[in-house]
Amino acid sequence: MSGSAPLLNIEHIGKAFGDNQVLKDISLQVMPGEIVSIIGPSGSGKSTFLRCATLLETMDNGSLYYDGIPACKAADTPDGPSIYVSKQELAKVHEHFGLVFQNFNLFPHYSVLKNVMDAPIRVRKVPRDEAEKQARDLLAQFGLADKADSYPCELSGGQQQRVGVARALALRPKILFLDEPTSALDPELTADVLKVLKQLASEHMTMVIVTHELEFAREVSDRIIFLENGQILEEGHPDELFSSSKQRVQDFIGKLS
Ligand code: ADP
Ligand code: MG
Repeated sequence: MSGSAPLLNIEHIGKAFGDNQVLKDISLQVMPGEIVSIIGPSGSGKSTFLRCATLLETMDNGSLYYDGIPACKAADTPDGPSIYVSKQELAKVHEHFGLVFQNFNLFPHYSVLKNVMDAPIRVRKVPRDEAEKQARDLLAQFGLADKADSYPCELSGGQQQRVGVARALALRPKILFLDEPTSALDPELTADVLKVLKQLASEHMTMVIVTHELEFAREVSDRIIFLENGQILEEGHPDELFSSSKQRVQDFIGKLS
């Protein structure tokens, strides 16, 4: 890993909704193969940060690079518009990441198989046969081979979320972003999804994970970031973070453990 360039480089981003300054000067570099978890209280800006990092939200300040490609540079004035790269380059940037949401966000009217193979066919122009084979392989990998023809409403939440992960991976992203992927699930189903994520971690998938599952974060992360009030209050190796001298971090960890 040493010597390589960051896959994701976020420099000094800021974001406000009206008077609410939600992100205040956040920087983050993620190296290939690295797993970074983001923890912090509700409302601290975790989702907004992921949304800015994946271009679902524009930022007011700062810049964002994927693999050295500038994806977004915001003007330095508070109301200056974000400047994105050309459409062509943006398409290249989009190839870099996959996104898994808290509430699965599967297409309800598509079968499981179609949910997973649709984007590769439409976005990547992957031939149908090849996309189907890859989708079935991913479903098999996550224990869902027999669910290919089911519809999302026929699956448990844990199964739906595993389809969500398979769908994100079908585009072969270099980074997988996950926003509280298990928070809508009960503990038993959470374990199934965490198992899938641990499997990806062991394959060195680069991931940025917002989670309240502290034991999981401690086990898989190379680095944990504690966000509060739109700022990074603490960041480091899990052992460092869990032994943080900051009372605020200890209180938060204590409450969730
Ligand atoms: P977290 O994911 O850590 O719970 P969020 O990023 O969802 O935090 O929210 C951070 C703050 O930004 C909250 O005060 C929330 O109300 C505000 N916020 C988030 N999205 C919007 C939006 N689209 N419009 C206005 N305010 C928003
Ligand atoms: Mg959130």
